[in-house]
Amino acid sequence: MLGLFSAIVALPMPDISSRHVTIIGGGPAGLMAAEVLSLAGVQVDLYDGMPSVGRKFLLAGVGGMNITHSEAYPAFLSRYAERAPNIAPLLRGFGAEALCEWIHGLGIQTFIGTSGRVFPTDMKAAPLLRAWLKRLRDQGVVIHTRHRWLGWSADGDLLIHSPEGEKTVHSDAVLLALGGGSWSRLGSDGAWLKLLEDKGVPYVALQPSNCGFEVSAWSELMVSKFAGAPLKNVAIGLGNDKPRLGECVITATGIEGSLIYALSAPIREAINRDGSATVHIDLLPSKPLDKVQVALAKPRGSRSMSKHLHSQLGLDGVKAALLRELAPAEHFIDPAKLAVDIKALPLTLVKTRPMDEAISTAGGVPFEALDERLMLKQLPGVFCAGEMLDWEAPTGGYLLTGCFASGRAAGRGMLEWLNR
Ligand SMILES: Cc1cc2nc3c(=O)[nH]c(=O)nc-3n(C[C@H](O)[C@H](O)[C@H](O)COP(=O)(O)OP(=O)(O)OC[C@H]3O[C@@H](n4cnc5c(N)ncnc54)[C@H](O)[C@@H]3O)c2cc1C
Repeated sequence: MLGLFSAIVALPMPDISSRHVTIIGGGPAGLMAAEVLSLAGVQVDLYDGMPSVGRKFLLAGVGGMNITHSEAYPAFLSRYAERAPNIAPLLRGFGAEALCEWIHGLGIQTFIGTSGRVFPTDMKAAPLLRAWLKRLRDQGVVIHTRHRWLGWSADGDLLIHSPEGEKTVHSDAVLLALGGGSWSRLGSDGAWLKLLEDKGVPYVALQPSNCGFEVSAWSELMVSKFAGAPLKNVAIGLGNDKPRLGECVITATGIEGSLIYALSAPIREAINRDGSATVHIDLLPSKPLDKVQVALAKPRGSRSMSKHLHSQLGLDGVKAALLRELAPAEHFIDPAKLAVDIKALPLTLVKTRPMDEAISTAGGVPFEALDERLMLKQLPGVFCAGEMLDWEAPTGGYLLTGCFASGRAAGRGMLEWLNR
């Protein structure tokens, strides 16, 4: 028995530098795995269908690259809702602090905004991506752009469409980091769902997340005068949840913006379940109901109700228009009822905006289909990371942190698999 044991421990460890991995997808998740693997000495070839990598990451930097959040870990983790137990081990390996240190290591400084969100000092993604790609190339990562993965050949190799035509690639392990299904013109189009389905891998259908919503129809006036108008300093709640403060934007078909994105998962689920979801908008969150009632009850003389609303409560513009649009006409002669409308104006949303417009998508490969290394149970040697996994989170840096963390975890998982 002892002889057998010593024979086993005497077996040479595989030489990692002779190992070759393929990563499909050059977003934050794929690039992070490439970093882990190349640092360990593994040969890494990364393929992306687009003419350059990191396109969605660059787009995320356009309005100010919010890379992570500085809030305490329990609150941070809670943003991943029911997927928090699956995301927790990933964040333990590479959470918000580790991510910031890693960014600093690329020579990019960060700052914490008033909301607790973390940004690179110049708010941009391009300098970070440039420095990162240089480091990856220096570490030996070979990046093949305009190479689209099409599935597997009959003998199990990867099928790639390249500018030179179709080719097959054989490697010791594969990472799929193909992104979600929004903004398909940036490369992540969700076409991989079918490829995995054909291999018997379970998946959850993709759905828009951090998205806008449609009403059944705005009036002509709302569309012509207020589409695009920001609705600032309001609070919106769904069901019995405490309304959240923030701002959003009226669109030609409904409503969008950060406050709505933050509520998008429960609104979407309510629409899926009930066919519609009614949110309540508090147009004056800093004024309690009794104060609104007192202000409205003041005599208005010959002044119109619009003027009264403006002079007593400062309600005008898009807020006043929304009140006209959504409150029953008879409430405008009943101050008590109108005050209730102002504090909780019901807005019924009937569908999400198309998935391609969404900031991110929910659904994808469920964690139950993966082992703790993020390897597909159905396809040994094939790993998954990033937004293509079935989790979602609000904006605030949680998406990118989740993608980086899962890319890191998958890279480590692949190393473990190669060393097994
Ligand atoms: C407008 C906008 C703003 C955003 N702002 C923020 C923000 O401020 N903070 C934040 O945390 N998140 C933000 N996000 C979300 C964040 O950018 C994404 O969650 C993140 O980029 C996903 O990373 P990923 O690596 O999983 O996938 P992606 O970044 O989508 O990368 C996937 C890659 O796979 C490639 N690919 C797909 N299929 C194939 C194939 N068959 N063959 C070869 N290559 C393929 C694609 O070309 C792409 O390069 C924003 C998103 C959008 C759209």
